[in-house]
Amino acid sequence: MTKHFDFAVIGAGVFGAWSAHYLLGSGASVALVEAYGAANSRASSGGETRIIRMGYGPDELYTRWSARSLPVWQEFFARIERPLFHKTGVLWVSDDADGHLAGMLKVLGEAGAVCERLTAEEIRGRFPQLSFPDITCGVYEPLSGVLMARQSVQAVVQDAVEHGLEYVSASVIAPSGKGKLAAIRTSSDDSISAGAFVFACGPWLPKLFPEVLADRIHPTRQEVFFLGVPPGDGRYGMPHMPAWLHHNHPDRVYSLPDLENRGFKVAFDVHGPAIDPDTAERVVGPQAIERLRGYLRQHVPGLKDAPLVETRVCQYENTWNGDFLIDRHPEMENVWLVGGGSGHGFKHGPAVGEYLSSRILRNAPAEPRFSLAAKQSRRERAVY
Ligand SMILES: Cc1cc2nc3c(=O)[nH]c(=O)nc-3n(C[C@H](O)[C@H](O)[C@H](O)COP(=O)(O)OP(=O)(O)OC[C@H]3O[C@@H](n4cnc5c(N)ncnc54)[C@H](O)[C@@H]3O)c2cc1C
Repeated sequence: MTKHFDFAVIGAGVFGAWSAHYLLGSGASVALVEAYGAANSRASSGGETRIIRMGYGPDELYTRWSARSLPVWQEFFARIERPLFHKTGVLWVSDDADGHLAGMLKVLGEAGAVCERLTAEEIRGRFPQLSFPDITCGVYEPLSGVLMARQSVQAVVQDAVEHGLEYVSASVIAPSGKGKLAAIRTSSDDSISAGAFVFACGPWLPKLFPEVLADRIHPTRQEVFFLGVPPGDGRYGMPHMPAWLHHNHPDRVYSLPDLENRGFKVAFDVHGPAIDPDTAERVVGPQAIERLRGYLRQHVPGLKDAPLVETRVCQYENTWNGDFLIDRHPEMENVWLVGGGSGHGFKHGPAVGEYLSSRILRNAPAEPRFSLAAKQSRRERAVY
């Protein structure tokens, strides 16, 4: 059986969900096709929480996109009456030699974002639970915070379904050919035809389009730890603990406060080994736990012996430098490739959906950094 839509979006992670939202908002008919379920445990959007911050060092583009996305998330949560954003504040810590923080202050200032520069002493005074002998300064964003990731994506999808989106539970078979793609086939042998197809398949993109993306998107294994906080101790949750990023640490450690009583979250932002999103066993190894304990002893001493109450293995889908990929397929003219979130994409879901839909619906100008042509096969991360 073939069903026809104006648009078919494949993948119900944060990029696919917001793409479907904006395409649907134009009055078009839209199908959202998803293999494992919206924000499933294998998906990059399937984690409990994601930081939303304005600071991107000297990178003005992603600062602007974060500043655009945060109010859209907030308006959406207000409309559906679900408190899925927590204004925890976000703190970057580093040293004066780190141009990232100096550049960030300049760009945040120019963007009118609320932020303050803190000295190491001020950071010690405000957050005595943390110990950073290796830092000299920080940048604090009081209005930024944390999105409840999995629940947020599921809410965007559910809301779209209530507004006419057709949600299809199926795995899409990789399309091939040249020119205009007429239809996609699913593993259950159904067919969906559409005017345009948006493949927002995150870390699966290189499997679906190996000739184009095998050496342009690299999924890496990332491990996440949740520590049980001491009983009755509020120091590791809101309002005492912000989300923070230890930018001059070699593992680029970051942390989120104890939210919804899930535990104090710590993770390493440095890229892990390659991962297969379908088949990977998602269990952390003893070496990673040892590395975590070493970090806690030095920097969060009050939790050095705290029990691990949960661990997760997720994946980044990295482009060569961390820039997103939002562009047409080079040979299938009505197929769009949307991904390359590169460990920082979640917060930008609304801006990605808005940009993609304006490209498709109104042929809006393209941002060269998101083009396929700009993606190289070497790896030189530049976006933090
Ligand atoms: C540990 C971790 C921490 C992170 N922290 C942050 C953070 O603090 N802040 C931030 O902004 N970002 C963060 N990110 C990055 C962010 O989560 C990702 O960039 C974002 O979730 C990517 O979303 P996506 O929609 O592109 O991909 P996904 O969420 O992976 O969605 C892709 C979807 O496509 C579906 N799919 C794949 N193939 C098919 C097929 N053939 N047919 C049908 N469906 C298919 C999959 O099932 C999946 O649901 C983090 C990522 C990780 C892993």
